Amino acid sequence: MSPAAPSPSAPRPVAVELVALTKRYAQGQPAVDAIDLRIASGSYCCLLGPSGCGKSTTLRMIAGHETVSSGDVLLEGRNITDLPAAARGTAMMFQSFALFPHLSALDNVAFSLKMKGVAKAERHAKAQDLLARVAMGHLAQRKPGELSGGQQQRVALARALITEPRVLLLDEPLSALDPFLRIQMRAELRRWQKELGLTFVHVTHSQEEAMALADTMVVMNHGLIEQVGPPHEVYNRPATEFIARFMGGHNVLQTPAGKIAVRNDHMQIAPASTGSAGIGAKVTDVEYQGTYVLLGLDAENADGRTGVSVMLPEAAFADRPYTLGEDVRLSWAAPHAHALAA
Ligand code: ADP
Ligand code: MG
Repeated sequence: MSPAAPSPSAPRPVAVELVALTKRYAQGQPAVDAIDLRIASGSYCCLLGPSGCGKSTTLRMIAGHETVSSGDVLLEGRNITDLPAAARGTAMMFQSFALFPHLSALDNVAFSLKMKGVAKAERHAKAQDLLARVAMGHLAQRKPGELSGGQQQRVALARALITEPRVLLLDEPLSALDPFLRIQMRAELRRWQKELGLTFVHVTHSQEEAMALADTMVVMNHGLIEQVGPPHEVYNRPATEFIARFMGGHNVLQTPAGKIAVRNDHMQIAPASTGSAGIGAKVTDVEYQGTYVLLGLDAENADGRTGVSVMLPEAAFADRPYTLGEDVRLSWAAPHAHALAA
């Protein structure tokens, strides 16, 4: 295993704290089940998990857009559980298509100040300043339909920031964008978060997006938090079988000592004829992926046969290509095997 990145020395103050936070829409298991979480101030936090695991419900309870069944939400130590959304110090960034189409970028950004009765000159000055901060100052008079998807996204960000929130909440903000723009906007979100020094809490079902963005990843499953940590830690040391499978790139194997996870690029493969140590397997799939070749295999582990994948660098595969139906041996170095909680 590669050495872990050094952890930040001083612990940062907590921006958002959830205490036994629970949401029950109906009988049975709650949508969010007594979760505890502390989100460091000025950090980029991603709530990650499959559809229906309770991410949006959690975010909406932080925002004040959903009532809490039990438990508490604290912002910088202040209990905000029963405060209305506008009084919390949080703001939600909605997807770009939630902009008003008939208003200019400037008026979209100034809208919530207008609702608060702030005078026109003052709200326009503030909106102009925020648009400038997201590199949109020169396009302030354009309507959303005259802006690109990325530019609309920046207007949506400026609109969320005008209330001077301490915490910005984002629910799948990139999911409506095409793949190219999604990656570009992802980098922008990350840059803005660092520049603004704000706490971002970003909901996504994409582990790739969460890994690219997050200082801290919070992986949820069935209304519970399964693991919290920086991306490299969650990826390299998945705590549970669910995490290992959900993060991808891992094999889950049964050994006499219990279940383990091994990254597919940490698997060693050898032809069966070499008689090397490990478990027997048969090649079922060979997929060229550019830098890597991904092998699918049917392997014999301690409780029967299981599907396994092995990622081989292209050069290694060129040296010794494996073919469909070939019998091989699979092994791994002990430090690459991570025991999974039952
Ligand atoms: P996610 O954002 O992770 O996809 P949600 O928080 O939207 O998940 O939903 C969690 C669970 O709560 C799901 O089972 C969903 O069907 C249910 N749920 C969400 N919103 C409501 C609602 N307004 N009324 C009833 N059930 C809901
Ligand atoms: Mg959701």
